[in-house]
Amino acid sequence: MRFANLTTSVFLTIFGIASQLAAEEGLKAWSSTEPFPSQTVYFPGTETLHPDEMRVVACGTGMPQPRMKQAGSCFLVELGNGDKFIFDLGKGSSDHIAALGIPTDQLNKVFISHLHFDHAGDFPAFWLTRGVNAARQPLFLWGPGGGQNPKWGIRGWTETIKQAWAWDVATRESSGDPRSTQLTVTELDWKKVNNLFYEENGVKIYSIPTIHIDQSIGYILEWNGLKFAYSGDTAPNKWFLEHASGADFAIHESMLPPELWLEKYSMSPQAAVMSGTQGHTTPRAFGKIMDIARPRMAVASHFQNDFDTASLMEKEIRVHYDGPLSLATDFMVWNITKENITTRMTVPNPETYPPPAQVAAEPPIVDENTYQWDPFSFSGFEPQTSAVTNEVVKEFNEQQGTDIEPILSNIPFK
Ligand SMILES: [Zn+2]
Ligand SMILES: [Zn+2]
Repeated sequence: MRFANLTTSVFLTIFGIASQLAAEEGLKAWSSTEPFPSQTVYFPGTETLHPDEMRVVACGTGMPQPRMKQAGSCFLVELGNGDKFIFDLGKGSSDHIAALGIPTDQLNKVFISHLHFDHAGDFPAFWLTRGVNAARQPLFLWGPGGGQNPKWGIRGWTETIKQAWAWDVATRESSGDPRSTQLTVTELDWKKVNNLFYEENGVKIYSIPTIHIDQSIGYILEWNGLKFAYSGDTAPNKWFLEHASGADFAIHESMLPPELWLEKYSMSPQAAVMSGTQGHTTPRAFGKIMDIARPRMAVASHFQNDFDTASLMEKEIRVHYDGPLSLATDFMVWNITKENITTRMTVPNPETYPPPAQVAAEPPIVDENTYQWDPFSFSGFEPQTSAVTNEVVKEFNEQQGTDIEPILSNIPFK
């Protein structure tokens, strides 16, 4: 009996190996000089976007609470026609965008869902670093208009930012391209449903109201038969259900379940329920929304996506939804065509330098508003150390064949 079992087992093993070998007969050795294409990671700057393809990079998927791993909300949408759109610029997200190495002038269209800092906090940094990142084209910004107070709209908000950073702009404009700080702001009526406000180059963008205090909106982008939907922050709302239904790619906020707010943030039960379920969407309700909307890919964002939270999030979402799902984290990237949606992780470049300028520079504007140095600063230059600076400039001129005068460090010798 023992012998019979052994024979059977030897026979099955040999049979198994034989069938495996038969299945592998078509194998060829992979070239040792051609790279084997990675299926799980995306290296920015290495892939051409197909004319029919949409690429979405999560540059921020986190919460107001600061953390290195997840910036505030920010999604970059790149289209095969060359257009690029940024939806929200939550705190920390502009460094993540920079890590993709995209020429700054190509990133000139920003759409803000609402003016909480986890969605708009990096706007000043994004705007002000354009000049030092070789931007030479104006920036365009869209966002909700004011509710009870017109000053609370995105135009009033931007004017306040301009005032707050007036010194930075004035001091840099005296030497930089004046267009890099130019800003065109368009306010959107936050109560308008399916509000078509952008139509250019085959791209249509609509705003929808959301339920997240007043004055918050979501966005729907349509291009080339593909529909992208972004909820911003919101409790489950009928407008998203109606207008994002059947989207190819739908990002909707989803908070941690309220019990995790108790555990992770040491909140009171009252605060946990208010923060996690009111004016926001629970993961179970996210599942219900996606079960009704049925996108080709449902993306849950705006929660701390960690080893101990992801499985709970998915369990809650799966109570009502069984379709394609991504639990977003920073640098997740999706390539979307009519046939396929692939989900990968971006390998960002933490040591990025700005790509070169795309258009010729314009000279700085010199008029009565041009920043004037106080002579007191000039009085601080000193001959010994200024001579060293002049030596460096002289060597540079010799190397580069230029004739640049060290205007400031020459002062002690005049
Ligand atoms: Zn918010
Ligand atoms: Zn938020």
